[in-house]
Amino acid sequence: MPESQGQSDRVLIVGAGPAGLTIAACLAEAGLEATVLEAEPALPTNLRASTFHPPTLDMLDRFGATQKLLEQGLIAPTFQYRTLSLIHI
Ligand SMILES: Cc1cc2nc3c(=O)[nH]c(=O)nc-3n(C[C@H](O)[C@H](O)[C@H](O)COP(=O)(O)OP(=O)(O)OC[C@H]3O[C@@H](n4cnc5c(N)ncnc54)[C@H](O)[C@@H]3O)c2cc1C
Repeated sequence: MPESQGQSDRVLIVGAGPAGLTIAACLAEAGLEATVLEAEPALPTNLRASTFHPPTLDMLDRFGATQKLLEQGLIAPTFQYRTLSLIHI
């Protein structure tokens, strides 16, 4: 634990999903300790997130994850999305 980080400065992260683990990695990179609490006994193997947008890949690059994701994934050069239009009567 860094000298500047007292016991009361420790970070508690609830949930070992992508958000919690990424935050923990960012804090570790900055030299800050964090404790991750996870309710499930094991990490899920059927992750719901199937799409990684460019800013996510940029962010994960410094942890060495981006190249592995690119090697295993399908690169989509285009995308489309649809949204419901609300009709006011
Ligand atoms: C059908 C579907 C498709 C999706 N597709 C995509 C996609 O293509 N791309 C994308 O980026 N995102 C997608 N998402 C969203 C995706 O789920 C999130 O991007 C991602 O899972 C969010 O991560 P998270 O860490 O915030 O939450 P989660 O992945 O939900 O992780 C939360 C963790 O916290 C734990 N937890 C909860 N409560 C407690 C507690 N009280 N104590 C301890 N642990 C607790 C849970 O067990 C879980 O492990 C999709 C979601 C769904 C439902």
